[in-house]
Amino acid sequence: MGKRYSKILLAVDFHSDNSVVVETAQDLTGLYKAELHIVHVNEPLGMAYAADGVSWGDQVYALEASIRKESQVKMNELAQELALSDGQVHLLEGRPASRIHELCEEQKFDLIVLGTHGQAGLQLLLGSTANSVLHGSGCDVLAIRIG
Ligand code: AMP
Repeated sequence: MGKRYSKILLAVDFHSDNSVVVETAQDLTGLYKAELHIVHVNEPLGMAYAADGVSWGDQVYALEASIRKESQVKMNELAQELALSDGQVHLLEGRPASRIHELCEEQKFDLIVLGTHGQAGLQLLLGSTANSVLHGSGCDVLAIRIG
């Protein structure tokens, strides 16, 4: 066998169908007898709207709180499905690619597994999470086509 991965980081969002990405990460974890972690990053909406006035800001913060709660539930479900312990589950806040890079460096992952919609044209130009994670990543990145 070629390269051996010992710590695999699976990045998940909850607005697309993650199942093939999750399954592939699971397969690789088994194949390499690796340790699997999952990460989700909540992007703060508040920063973009806060300057717009307090009342509008309040609504954005309420929305943020409900998104945060929802992603906590989804992460718990996924952690249970994958039989992960608390230390293998990372629910973070900030810019997804930056936080994933930081986590990867801190915890010395050697493979990041994520999904990609294989964007073309304008979307590719603007960049996607998959592109941003790949660029500047200190470790290997496996982008699995979805949808
Ligand atoms: P995107 O480029 O935004 O369509 O997302 C591509 C992939 O990046 C997703 O399938 C996930 O694997 C990962 N991803 C996107 N957003 C996040 C997020 N907020 N937290 C963690 N991973 C994410």
